[in-house]
Parts: sequence; C-alpha cells; structure tokens
Amino acid sequence: MYESTSGEKGMIRDCSIAFVRWASIAVLALGTSGCGREDPPHGPNDGNRQANARTSRTESANAPERPGRILLFSMDTVRADRVSGYGAAATTPNLEEIAAEGVRFTDFYAAASFTLPATMSIFTGLDALEHGLWNEAAVLAPSVPTLAELLRKAGYRTQAFHEGGYVDAEFGFDRGFDRYVAYPQRKVVEESLWLILDWMRSATSEPYFLFLHTYTAHDPYGGFDLYRREHPERGLPTSKEIEQWRREFPKREPGETSHAATVSAEIRKLCTLFNQLANDNFERLGCGYNYLPAGFPDTPHFDLDRTALLRGYENRIRSIDRAIGQIRSLLLELDQWDDTLFIITSDHGEAFFEHGLYRHDLVPFNEVLKIPLIISYPRLLRERGVRDVAGVTWHLDLLPTILSLANVPYPGNLRGVDLTPRLIENGNGADDRVVFPGVLRIPNEGMEPIRRVAVSSRFKLIEGHLKFGDSEGLLFDLRESPEEQHNLRTERVEIFNEFTERIRRYERELEPRPAIHRATRKPITTLPGEFPAKFTLSPEEEEALRALGYRD
Ligand SMILES: [Zn+2]
Repeated sequence: MYESTSGEKGMIRDCSIAFVRWASIAVLALGTSGCGREDPPHGPNDGNRQANARTSRTESANAPERPGRILLFSMDTVRADRVSGYGAAATTPNLEEIAAEGVRFTDFYAAASFTLPATMSIFTGLDALEHGLWNEAAVLAPSVPTLAELLRKAGYRTQAFHEGGYVDAEFGFDRGFDRYVAYPQRKVVEESLWLILDWMRSATSEPYFLFLHTYTAHDPYGGFDLYRREHPERGLPTSKEIEQWRREFPKREPGETSHAATVSAEIRKLCTLFNQLANDNFERLGCGYNYLPAGFPDTPHFDLDRTALLRGYENRIRSIDRAIGQIRSLLLELDQWDDTLFIITSDHGEAFFEHGLYRHDLVPFNEVLKIPLIISYPRLLRERGVRDVAGVTWHLDLLPTILSLANVPYPGNLRGVDLTPRLIENGNGADDRVVFPGVLRIPNEGMEPIRRVAVSSRFKLIEGHLKFGDSEGLLFDLRESPEEQHNLRTERVEIFNEFTERIRRYERELEPRPAIHRATRKPITTLPGEFPAKFTLSPEEEEALRALGYRD
C-alpha cells in the first residue's frame, strides 16, 4: 500500500528505479553502487572567497580532530516543548540521556515555518529568500554549496534516508549525497529502521555523514480508536461507519473536487477529525478535510479533541525517540558513540490552536518556530560540554557549526554563527542577538508575502497579518508573556520600531541566489507573494504532497 507515496517518488527520481516494494529497498540501501548525482559546478563567487574565519580554525582548535561520523536527524514537525527537558513533557528519555552528556539549546528557532525552506536552510546555511526554496516549483541554484557536498569533498561518505515530500531530491536536497534514499512516511523510524542500522553497521571503515529525516510526528497523528474507546460519550463513528463512509466518499483523485463540500456538516466534522487522528495518510476519508477549520476551538468537544490530537502527536514523538535510542545503542555497541557528532533537531514545530491556528505553515508563534536542538559529541562534550545553552540560535547556525567541528572551510560568508564556542565555554550567547525566521504559506493555498519574525532572548516581533491577531504587527516580551498572549505593539513602541528596523536591515543585507524553476529552467527572481503562476506538479508529486495533507 505504500508504493504510491512520496517516499517512492524520491526513490524514483533519485535512482531511476520504478515502483519498488519496500522490501527491495533493502537491496538498494545496502548496495555499494551509488546513484547520486555528480557535483554541480559552482558559481564564480563560491570558490574565491576566504573561508569564513568563524567557521574555520579558531574555535575548532578545541575539537580533538574531526568526528568519525556526523549524523543529522531532522524530526519533522517536532516542537521544542513536547521534548523532554524543554517543557513538562516526558516523551523522549533517549534524547534526555543523550543531552545529559551533550548540549541542549533551549532557544533554538526554525529558519522558516514549513519543511521545504526550513530544511534547505539547514542544508545551505542560507535564509529562505537567499536559497529561494520557499517555492515548490524551485530547485536549488547550482552555485549554492550544500552541507553534503562540502563534507563529501572533505572525505566523508554521504548518505541520507528520508521520507520525501518537501525534502525530496527534486528540490536539490540530494546534492552532494552518494545516496539519497526515500522511504514512505514513518518508515525511517519504524519498519525501515533496521535497514538504516544495517547500513551503519556496514559503514565502519570510513568517515560518513548520515542525514535522517522522518515525518513520524507529522499529521495524521494516530490514536482515533483509542480516543473512541476511552470516550464513548463523544459519539465518534464506529469502524463500520468509517468503512461505509470510505466506500461512499472515496478519496479524491488529483484534480477532483473534495466530497467534503457535499456531505452533511455533522459527517464532515467527524470525517475531518478522523483525518487528523488516522493512523496513516492512506486511511484518510474523502468526506472530510485535511485541516481542522478555524472555528474548531468553538466546537463543544474542543478540549477533549485537542487532548486526543496532542496525545497522538506525543506518542509519535516517543516513537522517534525509541528509534534514536536504537541508533545510539548500535553506535555504543560498535564503540563509535564517542567519536560521533550527532545533531538532533526539527524543521519546525506544530500548532494546536494555542493562537487559534493549526499545523504550521503560516504560524509565527513559538509552538511552530521554537524547536529542539541537541548536539552530542561525547569525545569533546562529555567532560567539557555546557549542558544547557540559552540565548537565541537558529537553523542558519547548523551548517557553520558542523563544518567547524569537521574542520571543513566554507567557500564564502555565512550569516549564521559557529556554535562551537557555546558548546564548550560560555553557555549563554549575547542577549542582544536577534534571528529572523520567515513565516510562509505553502503555494498551493495561495502564496503569501513572507512575514518576518525578529526574536531575541527577550523580545519577539511578528510582522502583521490578520490571522495572527493584529495586521499591524505583534510584539511580545517573552520573559513576561512566554505564551505570546500580551501584544505590546502600542505599549512598547520604541522596541517595536527598533525590531521593525532590524528586520528591514536584515532583509536589505540578504544575498539571494535565485533558485531555478523546474519547468522553465529560469532563475526565480520573484519574492513570496509575487509569484504569479501556479506551478503544475506531476501526478506523483501531487500524490506525495496530498499524502502529507498538503492538498485538500
Ligand atoms: Zn516539516
């Protein structure tokens, strides 16, 4: 049943192999012949600049040597406060154990509010408006070096196991990887984990960079049956009723109009709720929507339903944590744990109506923008590591930090900072540092201009949008209002103006390297919100994104 998912699509595009069953992926994953692409040529500006001093020798002089292995794990859609150690949640005992001998960044922010731009910022160290991958029609410009390319040139074998969709090879994410292998949603931490562990077991003789990505915490979150069993008074549909609806309202084919508009309001509500709590994308019903409506908080069972959504979400995070525990156990067993740089983070979080908003793409609040970052490198950090690092940091800091620890120079300047000094010395960064996440809506829902957020360890400014509660903008004092409820726009005008000016300055300094339009092969020079034409995706791409809930 998984053949038509995003994961398969990635496989096809990466390796030109037609639909294969997941079992046969084993052969591909463990095979020695790569199917990656050649290094693309770099532009004239990339080779001639001096290595950025921050990312080269000075700070990394403290590192013993370069790490034997670099693992980068992106837990898609995992918000910080649902991870042990960041909030009250006790969901991730393995991560907690890793953090106990590593470093946890407590104020780490996503570069953007959805997968495509955020993950590309991790891979390139660039802002979304610089790498241009806010646009689903785009592929990364060949002149932009990626983390995998730089590590491969430095002698690391490069491998990825991911779950497609908005991290598909199609966008240029496979650049620099010897192999960029896609699996269906959740398989990286479930059925296919043994393949990854086998790959790690087989890769003992050379240094490697391994990128892992999973949509396990992405909706649908699972847990519908449990919810129905525990709350019979809620009146949720029986399995029989659900099967009847499935027959009556089959899932739409690409291009077809949703059945949801034609069913009764009551059935539509239940189908929509079911679509959030289904175990799998393939269970979703055609009689409901993939998003909960804005009016959902006003429905009579909202509190109970929301608790069920959060429980499903947290259970999925537990499942990611178990996989991370198995990865750690294997590295310990192979006696490789101490010499492994293991970076565990997320691309963005998830909103559950804290501010009336759901999911993540156009959400500027910290339930989406604040994400976990745990860095483990026992050889360096077990004795000397600062356990909790406060002070704002963000996705753009990851590439310079990884390169620094691996002693690999970057051919150019970077906007992010090397976090290595904060790992081992002064734990807290400068209080006045400001980072600038971008909030974007996915194109198929109508492209919006980017809304910029400016956040320091104390204040947070959000550019205005009616959906955010104030079209003029919002300002929060995160010490007094960590929940971002008390808008200070009119009370602290001087701070509001100062942060607004900082945003303008930041955007003026950006250096866009226009991404390439996949259909026209021309550079995309427009900005989010100015993009005029809708891009036509292939049926496979449509299906992959629909499976993740991005097509209603
Ligand atoms: Zn994501």
